[in-house]
Amino acid sequence: MNKTILLKNRPKGRPTLDDFEFKEIEKPSPKEGEVLLKTKYVSVDPYLRGRMRDEKSYIEPFQLNEPVESGIIAEVIESNSENFKKGDYVNGMLQWKQFQTSNGKGLQKVDGSKAPLSAYLGVLGLTGITAYLGLKKIGDLEKGETLLVSGASGAVGTVVGQIGKIKGCKVVGIAGTDEKIKTIKEKFHFDEGINYKTTDNMKKAIAEACPNGVDVYYDNVGGEILDAAMANINYNGRVVCCGAISLYNKTEQPTGPRHETTLIKKSVLMQGFTVRDYQEEFPAAIQQLATWLQEDKLTYSETIVEGFDEIPQAFIDLFDGKNKGKMIVKV
Ligand code: NDP
Repeated sequence: MNKTILLKNRPKGRPTLDDFEFKEIEKPSPKEGEVLLKTKYVSVDPYLRGRMRDEKSYIEPFQLNEPVESGIIAEVIESNSENFKKGDYVNGMLQWKQFQTSNGKGLQKVDGSKAPLSAYLGVLGLTGITAYLGLKKIGDLEKGETLLVSGASGAVGTVVGQIGKIKGCKVVGIAGTDEKIKTIKEKFHFDEGINYKTTDNMKKAIAEACPNGVDVYYDNVGGEILDAAMANINYNGRVVCCGAISLYNKTEQPTGPRHETTLIKKSVLMQGFTVRDYQEEFPAAIQQLATWLQEDKLTYSETIVEGFDEIPQAFIDLFDGKNKGKMIVKV
């Protein structure tokens, strides 16, 4: 028996379970040069929402009535390929299916003895790399500076904050519950935290938490939190536009304060990026993250949901902040 999850509708606003369809399909057999993969861990990520729109972007949209795909750790259970053997674990952009074949293109072997397999979807995967390279390429942090991070208790945000501490900066995080604020301070060593859901005046709260202003703002959420951060940005500040989850389900783009004069008067760099821009730097980034993990300079959280059938709900739950750290489904 084999099952897949198709995109049934393009979500209007917030995604719902009705936007997905479960379908039973045949278990495939690998041809010459192919492997048969059994899905083990599935990464659900906010950016998948963008691929559900029928829009031209840096990555092609999902097609209706076709399987959704995301980062997946799978076990090779049959191999007709010289490059993989039965029992290998691989990481790749794969379809939401319990079993699938692959010709091996785009698959990387992962070593479960060096780190838990799920870590290759988080701290040692695209989210860790995004945190590291976004800060390195655009943030250009210097010791003693103030780093403000939104989405601070999520997969990217927790890594960003810890790198800020490794670099000797003051780090302030923004997240959506008091429990998350406690965790970013106690487990991830952020200096200060702001609960944006219980704070009336974010501009003032950021000013109080960052008395020397904000040198680098690592933005995972966009919208009004970005506006409040921009009101506190320093001369020569850098704004790393990594994500804008507060806008992903909006059907119309909201209006807000304009940032042009801040950028000019304060000589601020505001730059977006997609982590794929820097693919040639992935191996070095993973190496650095793995070294920090080994040295106990870096730690991570995961919210692991169990069961293939839970994949769509786990994805939807990202927009309610139900995850702490990386949201992963264990199959
Ligand atoms: P997270 O683990 O941070 O999960 C999403 C979190 O966003 C939730 O836990 C929730 O936490 C917060 N959130 C949800 N809705 C809102 C809202 N309306 N306003 C403010 N916060 C909200 O996800 P990732 O770490 O995987 O991704 C973080 C960001 O980075 C995303 O925007 C993603 O798209 C982006 N990204 C960009 C990449 C790139 O190449 N540029 C690559 C990878 C990710 P809370 O309880 O705090 O609200």
